[in-house]
Amino acid sequence: MVNFPKAETSQTMAIVVGQPINHSLSPLIHNTAFTIANLKWVYHAVKVPKGKAQECIEAIRDNNIRGVSVTMPLKEAVIPFLDELSETAKELKAVNCISWDGEKLVGHNTDGDGFVNSLVAETGEGISGSSFAIVGAGGAARAVIRSLREASVAKITVVNRTHDKAIVAAQLGGVNASVGTTELIPECDYVVNATSIGMAGTENEGSMPFPARYLKSSHTVVDLVYNPIETPLLLAARKAGATGITGVGMLVHQAALQYQLWTGMGAPIQEIERKITSEITQIAQINE
Ligand code: NAP
Repeated sequence: MVNFPKAETSQTMAIVVGQPINHSLSPLIHNTAFTIANLKWVYHAVKVPKGKAQECIEAIRDNNIRGVSVTMPLKEAVIPFLDELSETAKELKAVNCISWDGEKLVGHNTDGDGFVNSLVAETGEGISGSSFAIVGAGGAARAVIRSLREASVAKITVVNRTHDKAIVAAQLGGVNASVGTTELIPECDYVVNATSIGMAGTENEGSMPFPARYLKSSHTVVDLVYNPIETPLLLAARKAGATGITGVGMLVHQAALQYQLWTGMGAPIQEIERKITSEITQIAQINE
């Protein structure tokens, strides 16, 4: 059975569903935003295994949950039980957010646009006309590639361990996207690590997604991995004289788009970024 926490009568409930869910930073992000905006909303993490997707959506309807974030392993599994999908979620076949449109439950995917928004916010520059190397071809890479297509970037090169997955991901990038190898990284303006390599607590902790010799001082390097905040790739990028951008920006901006879908309001991005950065830093210190 899927068990949702009970909200106080005056409170509006939002949740994140998935498994594992204990270490999700989404409650901290959204509860920070609700508190700053003085909204009587509360956000909880709810453990839901993949086989319970239908039950979960029914419980969302029955409990009138007004905002839902969806994470692994439910991003695809919830789709058959929703009433509508945004164009992005339809194309990606993955939902990371559910909102209401009247009586209808609508699935969205805010990852890719969150990435683009964070990049523009961090660099202060537009990205149309720029070239991108995307290393990785999983869910995050596909969302990023699709949004880069929408942002009219000049060139997308997809580099991935598994060639077939790179082909599928590159198709989302439109005519300016193709599959390539690490040798093409130096030619690009932006380099994005969309693999899990470098992530704390995994077998790839401390590792680089590609050799540092491909980094140039003219690069802007973005790591989607946000724990640790300063990944081996970002440290190597800074050493090479490149600009490094952490995964915290995308994490916060994709959540901000969800918050906007639920509340109709803009999220306090900078305050949330500060809170999340401090939380991840503390977690890292505890695990040292
Ligand atoms: P995913 O769907 O499981 O994809 C994982 C990707 O990493 C695949 O391309 C996979 O290559 C590659 N990979 C994994 N281990 C590898 C290895 N040892 N050598 C080479 N390639 C390897 O995961 P995802 O959802 O896309 O997430 C990817 C990363 O982005 C995660 O670290 C996640 O935390 C992060 N992320 C961050 C945000 C954010 O807001 N900052 C949002 C979403 C995701 P194959 O195709 O060959 O298996």
